[in-house]
Parts: sequence; structure tokens; C-alpha cells
Amino acid sequence: MKINRYREKSLSADFRKTVFDEVAFTYDEDIAVKEASRCLNCKSRPCVSGCPVNVDIPKFIHLICEHNFFDALNVIKETNQLPAVCGRVCPQEQQCEKYCVHRKAGNSIAIGSLERFVADFSRTNVTENQIIHPAIKRKEAIAVIGSGPASLTCAVDCAIAGFNVIVFEALHELGGVLVFGIPEFRLPKNIVHFEIERLEKYGVEFKLNAVIGKTITFEQLRANFDAVFIGTGAGLPRFMDIPGESLNGVYSANEYLTRVNLMKAYLPESDTPIQKANNVVVFGAGNVALDASRTALRLGAKNVTVVYRRSRNEMPARAEEVRHAEEEGVIFKFLSMPVELLSDDYGSINSVRCISCVLSDPGTDGRRISVPLANSDFEIKCDMAIIAIGTDPNPIVKKHFTGLATNARGMIITDENAATNLSGVYAGGDAVTGVATVILAMGAGKTAALSISKYLKAK
Ligand code: FAD
Ligand code: SF4
Repeated sequence: MKINRYREKSLSADFRKTVFDEVAFTYDEDIAVKEASRCLNCKSRPCVSGCPVNVDIPKFIHLICEHNFFDALNVIKETNQLPAVCGRVCPQEQQCEKYCVHRKAGNSIAIGSLERFVADFSRTNVTENQIIHPAIKRKEAIAVIGSGPASLTCAVDCAIAGFNVIVFEALHELGGVLVFGIPEFRLPKNIVHFEIERLEKYGVEFKLNAVIGKTITFEQLRANFDAVFIGTGAGLPRFMDIPGESLNGVYSANEYLTRVNLMKAYLPESDTPIQKANNVVVFGAGNVALDASRTALRLGAKNVTVVYRRSRNEMPARAEEVRHAEEEGVIFKFLSMPVELLSDDYGSINSVRCISCVLSDPGTDGRRISVPLANSDFEIKCDMAIIAIGTDPNPIVKKHFTGLATNARGMIITDENAATNLSGVYAGGDAVTGVATVILAMGAGKTAALSISKYLKAK
């Protein structure tokens, strides 16, 4: 008998679009063991090579079958220190689950949900976590700039290798996009805080409200530390360069989500100002665009329309988020491009003029370009627009990190070992690649930690 993948349960769409509670529930023990027992423990282990940090997936799944959830967590933590986060936000359908042999039947093992189950089970069932204490304590000190997944991974791996590590974070909270970008209903902040507190036990020191390049100079860090890791992310929003982008009611997704998540504008008692609108248009179709649209729904919008110039097939967002957004009533306007944001008499946005597009044949890079169709203009009425078409690295890096090589878009240039052009300075995550994924940022942090360790030991 064919057993279908055990799907996660979730709150009903009608209810969840009124609250910020997490949408999907974790598996219970019984379902987790049943799902795990579908794993064939393939000799070739294709799922492992699909994971950017090579978690030993068959091994941890086998331990779940044996009800040995704590050891399953320890197996994951050998290469991934943020399993509760990754189990929730990794695009598994493009990574490990894409290579699972059951995929051919549309039935991959739910690797992400199992990872999440193991992390959640351990969090709610133990008080003391297993910490790896370094065998040898070394005297060298490493400065880590930023506290997103790239920096946190690099910091912990360096601490495990015995180095003294200080993390400098510009904001008043640790976690990077995990706290200021991804909303509560996808990644509850108590889970991020728990994972970070666990990392603190490795002896990493954290300094908040420390903007490197402003409050402390890059040169000061280089002079006082034996090595530096830069994980400053890509927090500078891109705009569309069309008329009307500075009207009242037009937000970058960055600003909108930071107000709601980091500054807690969604809580009734919060004094962070946030505009509440009835008709919201969101530009873009990645995770950021969907997070912004679903947040707008939860803040009371009656209609939320996502405008995307390509088709559903090209949407970069996680499949689960697209499904959840559709269930909650987000409207998708594909093959459409905004050309102008229009204003009422008071300088506030009241509609968006768009044009329809068709997709070209794939170019040599396989990408299909959207080509505007003549005389196909149409308008969407709205009282708020959110721009979520991508971000670039913060210009502070290019401007104030003297001598550091960056490309034309301000991304830091590194080699395959995460080394920059400056001796002892390493970088990784979105600051190097542009916006990518949590797990890729973590992979870069791991590579950098290994390189830093080799560099300092050789020195
Ligand atoms: P960040 O997480 O951006 O962290 C950088 C940190 O550096 C920040 O805390 C910043 O304040 C700090 N910093 C910057 N400059 C300085 C300075 N000069 N001094 C000190 N500190 C500084 N990825 C997924 O895999 N799945 C998802 O579902 C997903 N959803 C997303 C939703 C949103 C809304 C966003 C914005 C991104 C999403 N991503 C998702 C992408 C993912 O979050 C990023 O790829 C990842 O967080 C990059 O990690 P990072 O460590 O490079 O940088
Ligand atoms: Fe199990 Fe799928 Fe990995 Fe095979 S590919 S070991 S079935 S998770």
C-alpha cells in the first residue's frame, strides 16, 4: 500500500489571517515516527548532497524511527546549529527533498518537518542542552560583524574551535533577518531567542547597538582582533525607479516588516506607527513579498494583491508559503508590471498603473524575460503599496570598510574559502551573494570558520 507523506496540520486559513500565531503545527511523536519509517535509508544518500550543510539525513531519520529524538537532534547539530529555524524556513523542495527517491512519486520524505519536530521536541522536553566545550582554549580573538545566520554559525564554530569570539550587532536584538524580516507567524521569535541563547552557552560574547563603520571603525576591529568575519547581510531595499515611489503609503518591504516584527507594531500595546490599509498591492514574488502580503492581511487589509512580472512557475518563494498565502486569500496578478504609482489630492497613493507582459523564450542562461505588451495598461486601486523586489548590501560596507574589495552592487568579493582581499578578513552570507537563503548563509559561516581556524593556526 502506498503511504502518502504526512502533511503538517495548520490553523484554518480564515482564523490565521486574523492573528500572528504560527501557521503550521509541528508533528506529534506518532506522526513523526510514521513519516520517518517511510525512509528507505538509501545507500547513495541523495538527500544529503541536496542539503547545503550536508546534514546526515538518513541517520537522524533512523534515530527518529527508534524514538531516539535527542540523539537525532545531536546528529543534525553536528552540521546545523539552528535546526528549529531551518526546519521551518529552508526551501526543502529545492534542496534535500528535491533529491529524495520518493520525489518521483510526488511523495518525498518530509525532511524539513522531521527536522523541526526533533528540534521542537528537544526544546520542550529538556532543560539542559548538550554543549560541545572546546578541547583547547586558544588566545586569539575573532570579531564577527552582524548576528544573522552567517555570523552566528561562524561565531559558534570558531568558539567550538577554542577561539575567543565577540559578535558586534548594529541592532538592539540578535538574529538578523530571523528577527527583523521573517514574521512571527512563520518563525516565532521565542524559538529564535531559544536557539540564540543556546549558542551563547558556547562562550560567544555579544555586543548590541554596535554599528561597525560608525560607532566602532573597521580599522579598530582589525587592529584589535586576530581575524574578522563580515556577515552584514543585504539590508538596503531596491526600488523600481518609476514615478510615485515617494508617495505616502508606499513602503519598502524591509521597512514594513521591520516595523511589524522587530518593533512589534502588530501588538495592540506597541507604540510603533504602522499604516493600516484596506487595499494593498505588493510588488515581487519571493518570500519577502509573501511575508509582506500576509502581514498586511493580518493587520486588517481586505484585499491584498501580489503583482509579479513573470508567471507562477518562476515565483522564487517557498512552495509552502505560496500555498498558505493563497489559502489566506492573497490575490496573484501574474505577468504584470507596475509603471506608475498614482496619487490622490493629498499626496497619498490611491492606485497603481500596470502593464501586462508576456515571457520571452529562455535565453542562454535559461531565464525568461518579461516583455511588456503595448496598450495593455490597467489600474489597481489601493491605499498602500509595498515594494519587495530585492535588496542590496548596506553601503556602509563599501564606504567605511577601507580597502575591502566589493563588486559594482556593493557585494563583498571572496574566494571559495570565504577569504576577502584583506589578510585575516573573511565574509559570507547575503553580504557576499545578495539575498539568498538562511542555510546558504549558514554554510558560508561554516566555511569561513574553518578558514579562520586554519589561518590562525598557521600564523
Ligand atoms: P542577515 O540575516 O541579514 O543579518 C545581517 C546582520 O548584520 C543584521 O542583523 C544587521 O543588523 C547586521 N549588520 C549590518 N551591518 C552592520 C554593521 N555595520 N555593524 C554591525 N552589524 C551590522 N531565507 C530562507 O531560507 N527561507 C525563508 O523563508 C526566507 N524568508 C525571508 C523573508 C524575509 C522577509 C527576508 C528579508 C529574507 C528571507 N530569507 C529567507 C533570506 C534569509 O533570511 C537571508 O538569506 C539570511 O538571513 C542571510 O543571513 P546573513 O547572516 O547573511 O544576514
Ligand atoms: Fe530517506 Fe529520501 Fe534520503 Fe532516501 S533520499 S535516505 S528515502 S530521505
